[in-house]
Amino acid sequence: MSNNSSHSASANTVRRLCPRCGSDSSAQKALPYGSTEWPLKACAKCEFIYLEIVPAYAALAGELGWDKTFAAWHTERAKDRYHVLRSRLGRTVRDQLRTVFKRTTMESLLLEFAAPGNVLDVGCGKGTQLENLPETYVPFGIEVSPEQAAHAKAAVAPRGGQIVVAPGAEALATFPPEFFSCIIMRSYLEHESEPVRALNGAYHALASGGVLLLKVPNYGSLNRRLFGTGWCGFRFPDHVNYFTPGSLRAMVEEAGFSIRRFSMRDRWPTSDNMWMIAARG
Ligand SMILES: [Zn+2]
Repeated sequence: MSNNSSHSASANTVRRLCPRCGSDSSAQKALPYGSTEWPLKACAKCEFIYLEIVPAYAALAGELGWDKTFAAWHTERAKDRYHVLRSRLGRTVRDQLRTVFKRTTMESLLLEFAAPGNVLDVGCGKGTQLENLPETYVPFGIEVSPEQAAHAKAAVAPRGGQIVVAPGAEALATFPPEFFSCIIMRSYLEHESEPVRALNGAYHALASGGVLLLKVPNYGSLNRRLFGTGWCGFRFPDHVNYFTPGSLRAMVEEAGFSIRRFSMRDRWPTSDNMWMIAARG
């Protein structure tokens, strides 16, 4: 871990300073959404929302890996009848909205914004996204779980791509400068304990004019306010950063990017997630 973290809370966890500005919020009262084990804090200085204690990188490849903790979280969730009702209601609202607003897909964004060339999917899992990239792109991926990375390797090898098995922020820095025409961070940045390092790494690895396609849960959404602790964006300890439209925009711009698209439809208040298209140079 970098100097943005202090001593281990236990062998498998790390106590973080604010991942955006580096301030110590250990004296701050935890927000009502977290738990004793996984306190959620709002930074006293920059107001960024984050889990103060997070799994260490080493634990992410093992027992605290999101693929394993998500299964446990999902099983617990299914027992909560109140949650089932809330999610049914949410689905109905979403279905209605989808008939009005066309759904954003990664493929459509790539073709609209990214020039042909090397494309990197950070947190690529088994490589499903990479496998489906249009033919004008060479697929590359970063994945922290060795089991998932093995699947992804098999998927990208025939197209000349590679998979790096390492934590996202660390791996991003290992690519040559200006190597990619596009970097995809879809459902990744909320998991990354060092989001600023990851964004800086993406800036370094993108070619001039290259684009960063981002999708993260929207802590500022109406859904979070309505559903409270039952909001689907709360996953402890998998999701360690909780972005609002304001904090996401600020962090991406602080890394040097310019925002290409972040319209109302990309951050619609009743959507659990938000999309952003940013560019280098
Ligand atoms: Zn802060």
